[in-house]
Amino acid sequence: MKTLLPTSTAGSLPKPSWLAQPEKLWSPWKLQNEELLEGKRDALRLSLADQQHAGIDIVSDGEQTRQHFVTTFIEHLDGVDFEKRETVRIRNRYDASVPTVVGAVSRQKPVFVEDARFLRQHTTQPIKWALPGPMTMIDTLYDAHYKSREKLAWEFAKILNEEARELEAAGVDIIQFDEPAFNVFFDEVNDWGVATLERAIEGLKCETAVHICYGYGIKANTDWKSTLGSEWRQYEESFPKLQQSSIGMISLECKNSHVPMDLIELIRGKKVMVGAIDVASNTIETPEEVAQTLRKALQFVDADKLYPCTNCGMAPLSRPIAMGKLQALSAGAEIVRRELTA
Ligand SMILES: [Zn+2]
Repeated sequence: MKTLLPTSTAGSLPKPSWLAQPEKLWSPWKLQNEELLEGKRDALRLSLADQQHAGIDIVSDGEQTRQHFVTTFIEHLDGVDFEKRETVRIRNRYDASVPTVVGAVSRQKPVFVEDARFLRQHTTQPIKWALPGPMTMIDTLYDAHYKSREKLAWEFAKILNEEARELEAAGVDIIQFDEPAFNVFFDEVNDWGVATLERAIEGLKCETAVHICYGYGIKANTDWKSTLGSEWRQYEESFPKLQQSSIGMISLECKNSHVPMDLIELIRGKKVMVGAIDVASNTIETPEEVAQTLRKALQFVDADKLYPCTNCGMAPLSRPIAMGKLQALSAGAEIVRRELTA
């Protein structure tokens, strides 16, 4: 791995159109049974090849084997009934019909470990694996069993820890927990959100990360963002607690958002994945624009702790645009790398 400014993505990348309908969230699979299994693996290899071709340093599975970053993990657990659905408000933003927690939640078998092993076999580069965070998981469900968001979060944290330990054993270098809910439920983040995250990483020796963003570029998110005013200070609520936590890396959104960059100062000492690619726009950044974002971030994070990244996942984008953005990220990081070593 390049020692300086290693690039990565927040997680998801577009799927090929023969696997699922492009530019759509929760897009249903187009294949079935054995063909689906094989198709997902083929897509994973393509996604890896795209990242390598673009020069991305820390690679991922592009989330090619999951329909959705939260739902797919939950589907593999006991205690959640996907037929029994209730309408809830997700992240205080939009209504969605979600599955119901009907009993004690548990993980009978590994969810992504085989996929991680498959990715490991196909590259010697460092790999990052994303899992949903406990708070974001509970926010995507109706709970008729525990009837306590906190209790259910602790249960999910235990399950995530089991999965994370096996991912580590399969050769994953960085395990990342996606917690967009951290930008919404500030009291809970500080009461038990960060603590449940620490439970999820208990005993891990690999790198650990939390990704906190303003969401995919879908309408519900864009509408919400337009209500946030000219300065987005949400990170101010969670960063002090995270700075004190055992989480090693923090992935955040910077490009085109109204996040004041100096908020990064609040997590001094942590490794920071700086979002230098806007996933809510079809305009491909120029390498120089990426470099500008990284230079600005360097005022608040030491160069050896800066990890150029995307703002969020790119699943809803078209493949050519996502590919262009990957290349821009890579080229932009290279500009700043040269400046730093000149
Ligand atoms: Zn995100």
